[in-house]
Amino acid sequence: MNILVIGSGGREHALVWKLAQSPRATRLWCAPGNAGIARERLAANAAPVECVNLGAEDLPRLAAFAQENKIDLTVVGPDNPLALGIVDLFQARGLRIWGVNRRAAQFESSKVFSQHFMEKHGIPTAAAGTFDNPAAAKKFAAGLGGRCVVKADGLALGKGVLMCATQAEAERAVDEIMVGQAFGAAGARIVIQEHLEGMEISLHALCDGRTARLFPTSQDHKRALDGDLGLNTGGMGAYSPTPFLTDAQLAGAAGKILEPFMRGCAAEGIDYRGILYPGVMLTPSGPKVLEFNARFGDPETQVYLTRLENDLVDLLEASVNGTLDQFELKWSPLAAVCVVMASGGYPGSYPKGKVITGLDAAGALPRTKVFHAGTASKDGQIATNGGRVLGVTALGADLKAAQAAAYAAVDHIQFAGAHFRRDIAAKAL
Ligand code: AMP
Repeated sequence: MNILVIGSGGREHALVWKLAQSPRATRLWCAPGNAGIARERLAANAAPVECVNLGAEDLPRLAAFAQENKIDLTVVGPDNPLALGIVDLFQARGLRIWGVNRRAAQFESSKVFSQHFMEKHGIPTAAAGTFDNPAAAKKFAAGLGGRCVVKADGLALGKGVLMCATQAEAERAVDEIMVGQAFGAAGARIVIQEHLEGMEISLHALCDGRTARLFPTSQDHKRALDGDLGLNTGGMGAYSPTPFLTDAQLAGAAGKILEPFMRGCAAEGIDYRGILYPGVMLTPSGPKVLEFNARFGDPETQVYLTRLENDLVDLLEASVNGTLDQFELKWSPLAAVCVVMASGGYPGSYPKGKVITGLDAAGALPRTKVFHAGTASKDGQIATNGGRVLGVTALGADLKAAQAAAYAAVDHIQFAGAHFRRDIAAKAL
């Protein structure tokens, strides 16, 4: 089977690595990929994974590539091509592709759309209002005593969410997004949610339009520095499973979120085939959805796919075909921890081109996989090429062992300015 993966981050490296283990994968491309992806080989025939220099948002050329190379299944990693309608375009050309279509991608590309959907279909969420007018927004924030979260409607690279403690802060946030257009057109409309307290977890479910298969829990670490301090980032690490929910509580949360979600999609005629990834706050009054993402989390994917025991080609194909009811997801009982190593300065500006050493020594450790995110080949060496550079992932008999193994691998790896958190999974221990 010819497979094309779209994207270039740690999530895509994990997808490529897992798909490459399938006996069904006989040729695999990644557009545009990274230096770690280019080092992978297929289990079926030892063929190298081929990186092609096409951007993840260059939809016409990606479709032409898929046609020319007789791709049997295209797998989309990032949210942008989904929001741009890559799935609709491929399907219109008779090409098989995994990911949500443009309409379903609105759950991530429009927070206003999601908030309305949750309220209409009884999915537990924060008390909220949606606005296209700053004065009304400020009045609503005042009703919450200013303690609220102001969110730009559209995609803003994860930066369009402003937490406010006072009315003055809330008014500044509304002005920044709606008047100052800090996130451009993404801020023409906003959602204001009450500020929820609790432990935050990620849920993931693979959906096929009818059936949703829930993953175990995981937890991401969004802030740049230890102790959840510093700026918000794309994610500095993750682990799975989390100890904050028992299996029964997880099933209960899923019942409150996934069941009304799938029913709501059916009622609205939304054909949801792909990953549903709600960000959930475990509040004293039960789990509440903060937002929906319509693709795999990064770095959650790195911990999930190291634990997944099914053939990923089978699962993604079933998600496309609507046959997920024939599959049970199987997970390793081992725990997984992923520590992200980032460039100095990230999430602000950072240099590129710093040579990375120690990758082979780290990768040779047992139950360890170094996923690449922002890397490129440079004069026969591997160098940094992005903010998040590596996702060093390890399995262990329990979280403590997995954490120790991940940091043992991190300690082998060096590049100038490397920065990472020392406390990934510490909350769970
Ligand atoms: P979102 O992109 O909507 O998930 O928001 C980004 C981050 O902001 C989340 O991961 C939470 O840490 C935080 N956040 C969002 N909404 C709320 C809320 N209503 N209450 C408290 N924290 C929130």
